[in-house]
Amino acid sequence: MTGTEGARGVALVTGGSRGIGAAAAIGLARDGWDVGISYRTRQDEAARVVGTCEAIGRRAVAVAADVAEAKDIERLFDGVAASLGPIGAVVNNAGVVSPAGRVDEYDVERLERVFRINTIGAFLVAGAAVRRMSTAHRGAGGVIVNVSSRGAVLGSAGEYVDYAASKAAVDTLTIGLANEVASEGIRVLGIRPGLIETEIHAEGRLERIGSTPPLGRPGTVEEVAELIVFLASDRASYMTGSMVDVAGGR
Ligand code: NAP
Repeated sequence: MTGTEGARGVALVTGGSRGIGAAAAIGLARDGWDVGISYRTRQDEAARVVGTCEAIGRRAVAVAADVAEAKDIERLFDGVAASLGPIGAVVNNAGVVSPAGRVDEYDVERLERVFRINTIGAFLVAGAAVRRMSTAHRGAGGVIVNVSSRGAVLGSAGEYVDYAASKAAVDTLTIGLANEVASEGIRVLGIRPGLIETEIHAEGRLERIGSTPPLGRPGTVEEVAELIVFLASDRASYMTGSMVDVAGGR
């Protein structure tokens, strides 16, 4: 990626203020996309990501929007399109984990929170993307990259099986939606990161298990962003409905 290929269009990254989403936004800007990001609370960090994208030479905007709220998602898509133009790529990235615990300890509040943000939020963002990008809705086509987790396959026993299950639903969304909209100009892909160095982990978790992947270390956000940028680009033009692991062999 050189950063000077010219505009590819407008990409929207949910949860772009920090972690994987911030790195994806910056990577997309380097690859020639104008970038809209959403954040929930960290306005200053979102503004820094916007500044970095602008310093690369792309246009960028940040919108406060909770992916658990349908009306926020509509406002996010409309706000980004009003500022930057029609959206051509959506990175469905915002997500949360729960505190470590066994299934026999979960209560309804915990389960509703994780499924509301990670699963229902991902469905609502994907639906909003299709309503704008699908040729069946008079859009110009595009790509959706869903950020799942290796936990969806491994199960996350003893830590957060609910989180893992909320991400397994994102894998199924990826495959089903890809088949629904393949003939409408939209590719849908998913990635499953392993242990990546971000604030999402409980204190001490990365120190404790960071060396357990076969590659012997946690991944960086840039290593995940590289994959997202590739999948969003025309370089992945014959890919849809696939889940790609970026997990150090985990
Ligand atoms: P992170 O550093 O905690 O960042 C989370 C981002 O999501 C922030 O931008 C946050 O906004 C936003 N966010 C959280 N809840 C939101 C909500 N309800 N509505 C809108 N935005 C919300 O997390 P990360 O590690 O980069 O994770 C990004 C994605 O990768 C998640 O889906 C996560 O499940 C997945 N993942 C991460 C790992 C890993 O090891 N890090 C592994 C596998 C999968 P604010 O900054 O405003 O709070």
